[in-house]
Order: sequence, then structure tokens, then C-alpha cells
Amino acid sequence: MGILEEYDTSRLCNETEAAVFRILYSYVEKRKGDPAFLQFCICQTCIMDIAAIALNHLPPHYRMYSADTPHALKQFHYLDSDLLADEVMKAIKIVMSSPHHY
Ligand SMILES: [Zn+2]
Repeated sequence: MGILEEYDTSRLCNETEAAVFRILYSYVEKRKGDPAFLQFCICQTCIMDIAAIALNHLPPHYRMYSADTPHALKQFHYLDSDLLADEVMKAIKIVMSSPHHY
């Protein structure tokens, strides 16, 4: 039995990842609602590529959650939201210039 079978790793969360997906989702919503906003591809492949590129340029910030601290209620006070938004936008432009979708 390995460590991943013996311990519950679902309680370990990279808050940078959660924040990147939150920002990315806000950009997806803007792109759908505002024709003047950057019209990047929002297919599964492009969204995951964008997230991967952004996350590879940002420091991870892991936290262990307990039952009384649900993810949705946590704030990301110590994460630099301008930096996160900037890295997500840079990743969107990289994927737009060289998409992997079919
Ligand atoms: Zn795409």
C-alpha cells in the first residue's frame, strides 16, 4: 500500500490553483458577456492549458483543510491577486497564439 492509498490527500489544497481557476472563470464569464473582451477559446483543452501555464509561473500555496473550513469560504488574502490575474492573462495570450485544440 502506498502513501496515497493510506492517507486522505483530498484535504490538501493548493490555494494558488483554486485562485487561478476562480480568476480564469471570471475571464470566461467576461468573454461570454462582453464582445469587446478578449475572445479567447474556452474549450476544455485551452482552459486546462491556460491553467497549467499560469500555475507553472506561480508559487504553490498548500493548505490542509478540515471539515469546518470549506474551500468556498476561504479568502486568499496572502495571494497577490494582481499577480495572479496578470499570469492568467499572459497564459491566455500564450494559448491563443498556439492552441492545442482540434
Ligand atoms: Zn480551444
